[in-house]
Amino acid sequence: MSWRDRGIEIKTPEQIEKMRVAGRLVGETLELLRRSVRSGVTTGELDAIAEDNIRSHGGIPSFKGYGHPPFPGSICASVDDEVVHGIPGERVLADGDLISIDCGAIVDGWHGDAAITVPVGEVNADLVRLMEVTEGAMWAGFAAARLGGRVTDISHAVESHVRAHGDYGILEDYTGHGIGTAMHQPPNVPNYGRPGRGARLERGLALAVEPMVTMGSKHTLIAEDDWTIVTADGSWAAHFEHTFTLTPEGPWILTAIDGGEAKLAEMGIPFGGR
Ligand code: MG
Ligand code: MG
Repeated sequence: MSWRDRGIEIKTPEQIEKMRVAGRLVGETLELLRRSVRSGVTTGELDAIAEDNIRSHGGIPSFKGYGHPPFPGSICASVDDEVVHGIPGERVLADGDLISIDCGAIVDGWHGDAAITVPVGEVNADLVRLMEVTEGAMWAGFAAARLGGRVTDISHAVESHVRAHGDYGILEDYTGHGIGTAMHQPPNVPNYGRPGRGARLERGLALAVEPMVTMGSKHTLIAEDDWTIVTADGSWAAHFEHTFTLTPEGPWILTAIDGGEAKLAEMGIPFGGR
């Protein structure tokens, strides 16, 4: 079966440059939100900051109106035992909370999608570790991606990183994904599994890699709002995501403000965004 049969969208270098514009806006919006997280702020206020920033830079918040029932926010704001898809609103953040913020924007028809987990004030050391492990797993996924490799090379690297660092839960019901002219495209990018399977990693493919990791169980429930995904055992969770692509030089992290250059250099991985 060819990539066309599976609906995988292969972008030209010019189209990837357009995705970079959308990705950078998402990255900058998330940095603005990171600086805005503090005790006393509501998730709804963070949502307003995100929407203003996206629209004032010529973007459209891709989450707003997405799905059924239509998602009401421009960000997902998932606090403590909420893993992903939390609806922003009246909830007031307090010291010791953990908030995962997922953000997507469309610029000129092209999508960017990324997420960060941010501590509110001081959080306990186990939660700091959870965030480090989850973010590290995402970067391990980028480091494992090679042109000519397979999608589950990323999955395997993400899982291996998490397993090497402790007894955590990795969500299996939600995955990373292809991205381009739509936010969610084939192929899925699971956060676990054996390497060497799935779609071939080729130039022009863009993927969102997004490990969702908990302090306990991998099992989740959907809250009564029909959106918020919470852990079944009440354990707290972290979620990191970036949209990336591969060039012949290496990975290029489209939603990182610097394209991922600094972090990749730290890991000894060539930077693909030159
Ligand atoms: Mg996302
Ligand atoms: Mg995503």
